[in-house]
Amino acid sequence: AKSWILAKHFNGFPKDSDFHLKVEELPEPKDGEVLLEAVFLSVDPYMRPFSRVHMKEGDVMIGTQVAKVIQSKNPAFPVGSHVVSHSGWRTHAVSDGKDLTTIMSDWAPDVSLSLALGTIGMPGLTALYGIEEVLGLQKNETLLVNAAAGAVGTVVGQIAKIKGCKVVGSAGSDAKVAYLTELGFDEAFNYKTVPSLEEALKKAAPEGYDCFFENVGGHFSTVALPQMKNFGRIAVCGSISTYNDSTPQIGPYPHLTMIFKQLRMEGFMQNRWEHKHPESLKRLMAWLKEGKLKSREHITKGFENMPAAFMGLLQGENIGKAIVAV
Ligand code: NDP
Repeated sequence: AKSWILAKHFNGFPKDSDFHLKVEELPEPKDGEVLLEAVFLSVDPYMRPFSRVHMKEGDVMIGTQVAKVIQSKNPAFPVGSHVVSHSGWRTHAVSDGKDLTTIMSDWAPDVSLSLALGTIGMPGLTALYGIEEVLGLQKNETLLVNAAAGAVGTVVGQIAKIKGCKVVGSAGSDAKVAYLTELGFDEAFNYKTVPSLEEALKKAAPEGYDCFFENVGGHFSTVALPQMKNFGRIAVCGSISTYNDSTPQIGPYPHLTMIFKQLRMEGFMQNRWEHKHPESLKRLMAWLKEGKLKSREHITKGFENMPAAFMGLLQGENIGKAIVAV
């Protein structure tokens, strides 16, 4: 079995020497346990900030994967079945089943199981809860989403279209912008090449924004907040532009904008609504089957390329969900 270890805490952008590939023999599964083999592994932005808080040097990198049960002494997980497992960056793992979720029974046979890590998984749920639970997005409202061509952002924009809204997305390349247009975004722009972010936001929605699904933070946030309408709502989902900072960015704080515009800003994590996950995954799958939700993946082949896939994600190489296929 192979696993990727956090050899050294990240300082700035992660680099190759921060990771170490470990090879080991695993014990045979005992009663109640299963042996898993990774099929698809997820690389996600949260791994960067979480590594500092939840990991120490020498730990296996945290993460989720779709795995196949290859030995079983637990009747709930028969050999050959697939599960979503939180076993981290490992090719194989022994589990007592507590951290495993079975793939939903009516998973469409023509849909790749890798989507259980993306559109029909954690990022899709994040998009859905941000829109419905946090923003309470209503028909005909105007929504802004950044990192729009990523795993969460693509689903945010498409759900907002399903709900009859105007959707504006920003992303970091022209190819990403073209993809957003293909997905039905009303307006999309490349935040790296527009002469002025403020002007681009104004031009895309001269009427202002009712809702802002915030994935990026930092400078983008500072510029976007004054473009909100009065009583606008902001769902703070992520802050990826700050994850690799060695020293935290300090202000400017948007308090005056928030006061004068009477904005409501709420941070959230998708696991707040864990009790709704089974029903929510069904809704996402139904939209996918109806063709209302399209899904794209950026697949890196080979377990040995996990660090490269993760670093690529943080540099914006992916369109759609970043996945590693073993
Ligand atoms: P993505 O698939 O969107 O990949 C990350 C993208 O972020 C990159 O492709 C890149 O796109 C963009 N990015 C990277 N660096 C910067 C930067 N400095 N400034 C602006 N954009 C940058 O990842 P996810 O969809 O998985 O995650 C999106 C956000 O949602 C993240 O902030 C993540 O932490 C958050 N999240 C929060 C959850 C929650 O429960 N609160 C759950 C899941 C995700 P580009 O080319 O456009 O720059």
